[in-house]
Amino acid sequence: MRRPYQFPVQSAATPVTPPAQPCVSAGRTERPSWTPSSRIFPKRLRPRPTRPRCRTTCARRRNRRFRAPRAARRKRRSARCSPIWDDPNREGLVETPKRFVNAYEELFAGYKECPAEALDRTFSETGGYDDLVLVRDIPFYSHCEHHVMPFTGRAHIAYMPVERVVGLSKIARLIDVYARRLQTQEHLTSQIATAIDEILNPRGVAVMLEAEHTCMSMRGVAKPGSLTLTTRFTGLFRSDPQEQVRFITMVRSAR
Ligand SMILES: [Zn+2]
Repeated sequence: MRRPYQFPVQSAATPVTPPAQPCVSAGRTERPSWTPSSRIFPKRLRPRPTRPRCRTTCARRRNRRFRAPRAARRKRRSARCSPIWDDPNREGLVETPKRFVNAYEELFAGYKECPAEALDRTFSETGGYDDLVLVRDIPFYSHCEHHVMPFTGRAHIAYMPVERVVGLSKIARLIDVYARRLQTQEHLTSQIATAIDEILNPRGVAVMLEAEHTCMSMRGVAKPGSLTLTTRFTGLFRSDPQEQVRFITMVRSAR
């Protein structure tokens, strides 16, 4: 059975409406009791209602209004990024990035090749030959690791075989494995000598490289025709100066 609604009893102990609080308008967090209206602020000075805004998207949208046209932006970017002031969209240059990548994949193919595989073919039928084997005037080209500019020259390589000799073309292949990388001539010389020494284990290895560096002949001090010579000797060639003299004499003999 439902009871009839009872009105709250008004008494001093339980007042129905709380007593009015004193107004504290001086507090910092207090908002003014009035709302902005056209009477106080004219329309252009009226404070705009604050909406929650995302920082990134809204900023991007705001900036987009002031962006230069796409063509102008592209031109500005290409001028800023490229040391060559040219139009990258003209006919001769459109395909150039693709050609550039293909060419450099070939020029730096040495990174994908193994020096041990280059020297894998050896022969034991030597008739007891154990004297110096010299392959000279092997042309090579490489790139200097400081300027990525080519240096080209000739390599002369000698070794003293023990029981087995290596196929002569394999020595030329070994040079390419190391030359088709970013190099310094000194490092290249050392790598070739060490590879032959460790893989074939001969009594000695002698390597001489002579090369012209375009980063020195075409730019910088600009001295075309200057040659850089580097040598590396291991084993018998290192310990016996007579063998070094014999190697250099054979390299320098009339061609
Ligand atoms: Zn260089």
